[in-house]
This record gives sequence, structure tokens and C-alpha cells, in this order.
Amino acid sequence: MTSTALTAANNFIRNIIEEDNRIGKWNGRVTTRFPPEPNGYLHYGHAKAICLNFGLAETYGGICHLRFDDTNPEKEEQEYVDSIIEAIQWLGFDWREHLYFASSYFDIMYACAESLIKAGKAYVDSQTAEDVRKNRGTLTEPGVDSPFRARSAEESLDLFRRMKAGEFADGAHVLRAKIDMASPNINLRDPAIYRIRHAAHHRTGDTWCIYPMYAFAHPIEDAIEGITHSICSLEFEDQRPFYDWTLDTLASAGHFARPLPRQVEFARLNLTYVVLSKRKLIQLVGEGHVSGWDDPRLPTLSGARRRGFTPEGFRRFAERIGVAKSESWIDMSVLEDCMREHLNETAPRRIAVLDPLKLVITNYPEGASEPCQAPNHPLKPELGKRDMPFGRELWIEREDFMETPVKGFHRLAPGNTVRLRYGYVVKCTGCEKDADGNVSAVFAEYFPDSKSGTPGADNYKVKGNLHWVSAAHAYRAEVRLYDRLFACPHPGQRREGDPEGLERSYLDDINPNSVRAVTAFLEPSLKAAKPEERFQFERHGYFIADLRDSAEGAPVFNRTAALKDSWAKG
Ligand code: ATP
Ligand code: MG
Repeated sequence: MTSTALTAANNFIRNIIEEDNRIGKWNGRVTTRFPPEPNGYLHYGHAKAICLNFGLAETYGGICHLRFDDTNPEKEEQEYVDSIIEAIQWLGFDWREHLYFASSYFDIMYACAESLIKAGKAYVDSQTAEDVRKNRGTLTEPGVDSPFRARSAEESLDLFRRMKAGEFADGAHVLRAKIDMASPNINLRDPAIYRIRHAAHHRTGDTWCIYPMYAFAHPIEDAIEGITHSICSLEFEDQRPFYDWTLDTLASAGHFARPLPRQVEFARLNLTYVVLSKRKLIQLVGEGHVSGWDDPRLPTLSGARRRGFTPEGFRRFAERIGVAKSESWIDMSVLEDCMREHLNETAPRRIAVLDPLKLVITNYPEGASEPCQAPNHPLKPELGKRDMPFGRELWIEREDFMETPVKGFHRLAPGNTVRLRYGYVVKCTGCEKDADGNVSAVFAEYFPDSKSGTPGADNYKVKGNLHWVSAAHAYRAEVRLYDRLFACPHPGQRREGDPEGLERSYLDDINPNSVRAVTAFLEPSLKAAKPEERFQFERHGYFIADLRDSAEGAPVFNRTAALKDSWAKG
């Protein structure tokens, strides 16, 4: 077992695997798979499924396959395949040589279907789609047999082959498993297993005009690959009997050896303040509500990456929330806290002034400057220190000065003494205002024997400790302050007080202030930040040099998260 595995919370899927290992069902082998359909970008919810599947394989010395479930030709694209591969690699998981495409199994799936027909366990139904629907019955009423159910195997086989040969239009016929039209489980009422779709497939082109249904294809894919535990989300629970029927029937016909893969369901991730549905994400991107699939506000993994979230943070999150058998909601702050914790441990500290106001040290020589030493990480002295230039003109945060201080304000105000962090103690002597009455500069005098790290420094007792950057040396940069994309925890859900009959769309709940770009002054070393380098800007939070918009020597920064959960009180 790896160390991450040892610290992980137990979960019921581990218990199933351990019991299988105890009875020797698979001789200790554990093979899982992550089976995305390449019809969208991966989101935070997929990260949970990825960490679960790859994590279990890691824990039990097995392997997790990456399999593209590309059985539906209409909505799938190579762009999605590429983005999915990139996202899983970014999360740090490795499928080694086990990259598969369900479409590579179309021949085997077709052979399985023919064999079911020959065994009298599938038939070609020629009812209209509407009649199929009507005759399926309801939760309380059994279905009605199709008039074509009694068709001979020979006739069905002939029709199925002609379906494959392209003789019929979409919807003219459908191949159905012959199980039980009266089953209390609607999924067992002769589910469709093949349909006609004259559509080009992103990998197989025009080779096929019939495509297997997901519920039929998936168990076959698992069996072909020797998957031991097929882990999926809860909505497939009612499909499990059909999953088992398919594999059992095909194993009995000699297509697959036993033991057969076992489907295990878990509750998908529901997270507040985001939408985790490919359809909605496609709409947000398509209608321009965000800048693209990797917009840092979007809950996609490519967005998370630009936002500055870390793979380790996602893994920590997956372990913290665990795996359950019933649906629940996880608060966004849990995910953000996991990111903060990891960043707090790893991100080097830097100084940034996001809302700049000039501070002039009137008794400091003009044109002079000197280095001040700042630690790179307060808890990790081994990360060393760096020099920050000090000078006569500095940038400080506008909110760190008040001309008429309110009670309890210990920062700069006329007559107040504060420490410029890692530098000198200064005493404020006044300020200057522009024509509109806004403060345009603050004046102070410094105490030459108060420099941090020198013997006299401790003689000064001050309550305020401000960050600053030298105006002559600062790197002027764009910094984007990102916030949550939605302004309420359950976008699109009815709220108390909504008038009767009001249909609220999740689009109505978009946070209009989810991004604000500022021109900031950063300590000079940040000019050399490489794309994707992460930092804590002291007192402000965690930031990352943007992957897309940074140029060599001219990084642009994105805020990943504030230092604390600023939504907790709001
Ligand atoms: P679709 O509606 O297109 O099927 P999907 O989100 O289910 O969307 P898939 O590509 O089928 O997308 O998902 C791949 C895997 O990720 C599936 O096994 C699915 O169970 C899992 N998954 C999807 N959404 C979540 C989620 N919110 N939490 C956990 N797992 C998820
Ligand atoms: Mg799905």
C-alpha cells in the first residue's frame, strides 16, 4: 500500500475489494476503469471518480484503465478526447499502456448481438419509437409485448444484418434484448441494444451505421478488458440487473470467462456554487458566459488548473469527502479549504499591493535603495530568504491608511507608528489629496535603527505590520481576482419567496462580480514567475501565474483563493 492509501478514510468499495481478495475471487487482481464519454470537458465531479478509480488501483497494486466510452457518434469529438487525457495526466494519474476506446470493440459487440439473436435472447423490433415507448408500460403497469417479439431468430438475424448493411433509415428497426416485458424493473423490459444511426463516428468514420446502446456496450467493454470492479455513479443502480444479465448470458454463450466484472455504484459529487453537468457547462461556454472551457471560474479541470487549484488538493478533497451510497451535497468551501491547505504548505510567499497608494518616506535619501530580507515560507526556513528592495517611495494598500482612523485601526494614520514588514518602522506625518479630495500620497518618516533583523529592531513595539513594494522597482502587472461563478449555493433551484410558477434558470444565478481585474504592483522577483508558478501573496491569498496569458518576463496572475473562506460569514 502507498502512504496516501494508508491515511485514506475507509469506504464501502474498499470493503468489497478486500472481501473479494480474501475469498480469492480475482486472485488479488484489481482492475478498474475510468470511462468518460468524450462529449465534454471533465469537471470537479469527474475528479472524484478519477481519484476513486485510479486511487483504488493504486491502493491495491492494480491498474486503472482509461477508456473512452465513445459509442454515441453524434456528440463526440477529438477535442474532448485530448482535453480529457490532459486533465487526467494533470491530476497525476497513469493508465500506462491501458488506453482504450469502446469503438475499437464494435466488432465484438456486434458478434455478441448476433449471438444473442441466435440464442433467441434478442430480436429486431420494427415498432415505431412511439409504440416502443407506449408499450413499455409504467412503474405501476407491466409492458406489452411487441408484435415482433415472436419473430424467428432467422428473421431477426437477417434484419439485423441488413440494418448493419445500411438498408434502413434511422429508427426503422431496433435490436432489443428479449428478457421480460412484465419485469418490475423497466430496464429489463426488453431494452434496446442496437439502433440505426447514419452518422459518422470520430474514430470509425462511416464503417458503422448501427451503434450499440450504452447499457449493452458498457458491460461488454468491462468484460473485454477484464475489469474486476466497475465503479459508476448511483443513477446506474437500476441498470445493474441488465449489466449482469448481459454478461451472464454472454458468458454462458462462451464469449467471456467467469468471474465477471461487478458493477458497484457510489453517490456522485454534488457541490454548491457550481453546476456539474456537461450540458450546462457546454451552454456556459457556448453562450459566452465565460471565456472558454478553461475559464478559471468554470468547474472544469482545465479551468481549475488555470485557477491555480492543485492535483494534490483534489486528491485531498476526494479522500476527505469519501465515498457513500447516498446522494448528498458538499459545500464548496470544503474543496477550497483542501486547496488552501495544500497551497499553505507549498506556496512561496511574495508581496503584492493590489490597490496601490503611494507612501513617501520623507527622511529617506532620494535615489537610494537597500535590500530587505523576507522569508520565502514562515514554516519552512529551508526555503530561504529573498531580497526585496526598499526605497524612498513605496506602494502600500489603500485600505492600510486612514486620515481619520476609526477606533481599533492600527495601521497608518497621521501620528501612528507601524512596521513596514521586513523593513523599517515608520511614523506617519500626513497625506496629500487630489482635486477630488482623494488621498493621493501618504508621508512618513522612518527610524534608521529599526530595520527588521538588526539588533535595534526589537526596541520598537508597534501594532500595525504593513506590506509594501518599492515604487522604483515594482513589477506592474494585471491580477485577476476571481470569485465564485454563481452567487448562490444551488444555482437554478427555487428559493424561498419565489413567486408560484417562477422558473428559475441556473443562468439567473450567475455572480455578476465573479472576476475583477486590477493593476497591481508586485515585488520585482515576480516578474520572473513562470506560467503556473504558485505563490501566496501575503495578506491576500493564493495566486498563480496564468498559463494562457502570461508572456516571458510578463506574467499575469490569477487569484486561486483568498486566505480565508470569505463566504462563510456572508
Ligand atoms: P453524461 O451526462 O454525458 O453521461 P457524465 O458526467 O456522466 O455525463 P461521463 O463521461 O459519462 O459523464 O462520466 C464519466 C464517469 O465520471 C462516469 O463513470 C460517471 O459516473 C463519473 N461522474 C460523472 N459526474 C460525476 C460526479 N458529479 N461525481 C462523481 N462521478 C461523476
Ligand atoms: Mg455518464
